[in-house]
Amino acid sequence: VTHWQGKHVTVAGLGVSGVPAAKVLNGLGARVTVVNDGDDERARAQAAELEVLGITVRLGDGATLPEGTELIVTAPGWRPDKPLFAAAAEAGVPVWGDVELAWRLRGPDAAPWLAVTGTNGKTTTVQMLASILRAAGLRTAAVGNIGVSLLDVVLGEEQYDVLAVELSSYQLHWAPSLRAHSAAVLNLAPDHLDWHGSMEAYAADKGRIYEGNRVACVYNVADRATEDLVREADVEEGCRAIGFTLGTPAPSQFGVVDGILVDRAFVEDRQKSAQELAEVSDVNPPAPHNVANALAAAALARAFGVPAGAVREGLRSFTPDAHRIAHVADVDGVAYVDDSKATNTHAAEASLAAYESIVWIAGGLAKGATFDELVARSAKRLRGVVLIGEDRALIGEALVRHAPEVPVVDLDRADTGAMRAAVREARRLAHPGDTVLLAPACASMDMFANYNKRGDAFAEAVRELGAAGA
Ligand code: ADP
Repeated sequence: VTHWQGKHVTVAGLGVSGVPAAKVLNGLGARVTVVNDGDDERARAQAAELEVLGITVRLGDGATLPEGTELIVTAPGWRPDKPLFAAAAEAGVPVWGDVELAWRLRGPDAAPWLAVTGTNGKTTTVQMLASILRAAGLRTAAVGNIGVSLLDVVLGEEQYDVLAVELSSYQLHWAPSLRAHSAAVLNLAPDHLDWHGSMEAYAADKGRIYEGNRVACVYNVADRATEDLVREADVEEGCRAIGFTLGTPAPSQFGVVDGILVDRAFVEDRQKSAQELAEVSDVNPPAPHNVANALAAAALARAFGVPAGAVREGLRSFTPDAHRIAHVADVDGVAYVDDSKATNTHAAEASLAAYESIVWIAGGLAKGATFDELVARSAKRLRGVVLIGEDRALIGEALVRHAPEVPVVDLDRADTGAMRAAVREARRLAHPGDTVLLAPACASMDMFANYNKRGDAFAEAVRELGAAGA
């Protein structure tokens, strides 16, 4: 147990993780200094809130290591190659993320963690998992990267039987001592490579989620890299590797047989080789990638001892969040679908695979990605493409290489009316029966505050179309 009284702790970054971390550490008696790169109005307001508690805040200076620092607690998004961390390494100062802090303060005692990571499907899977756990009568919460601070939950008054925890690759990078009850890596595709430095480093950070697992390491049979991570992990004795597959499951796997989700890993009845859990039609929406998410959630729940009936009930009562393959409206026989949450190529590929004839709205910040594979695999489904955002030329070049016959509108605008213009162009390209799909394969921050705002702008533009056409 760390002795906090008088300890010099530097919190790197204000914001959703930094402000609660600074308050908690200050409450424990540590001498807290917050360093922050930005110096905008929001930062100043947060600084004022902390300074009245006696916390020192240095705005506009996130690079210098404050004198006497014994520990850094960083916002998960801070890149490991920042000068602050080079200075910390030189001075032998450890760096923890917000998840590591929550874990060290009270993680194992608050409740067991069922943890989920992966390039895509994390939030959906964690919400499905929480829904299943609730259906089993367990006190639980969906927490972590999903937008609910682990610190708040772990240190709060409410009691939990088990937590459904979403962890990003950033959080895992900064959480070296975390030990989950069981964990799943849903899939691994290139994303955030500029942050991690390489695909290998990204995979290694994701793989940390399996370290020290007690009951099950859940992996994706169709994604060899996830299985490799299980093999490389150091786990507790008796912990099992449990695969999930959209095909027929082998022993110790979860899979699908004749439209039924089945469990061949935790079968209660010794007379049977498989336990039926739910029907594919119980999954909302029953798109293939989402059935995979449901299988992963079911595997974690079953590893925790949840009965089959609760899996079915939990899946049935689950409703997906906004901006994830959300049907906005039909206008003139064309369906408009908002998958603004498809912020990387892997996610966009999953949603493009769900439709036959598509006018695709894509583009934004590429985050170091390449688009050749995505475009080559999706080319035959494309009626047309509308490109938006800063890195749209990267997608445009891939289209020239792999889908030269597909009409492309290059929208060179970043103003508030840009999405409206994109939707109008998409309408022009679409034929009745087509789907206009916003699945940008890129981050949104070049044009919008976040993917929610991007999806909202799309939905608003579609509703205007509908109103104008009516
Ligand atoms: P995350 O929390 O990992 O970002 P979400 O559950 O919010 O994941 O889903 C993000 C997007 O990823 C969805 O809009 C969908 O396009 C896509 N997606 C969801 N699950 C999967 C999956 N298992 N494989 C590939 N793409 C997926």
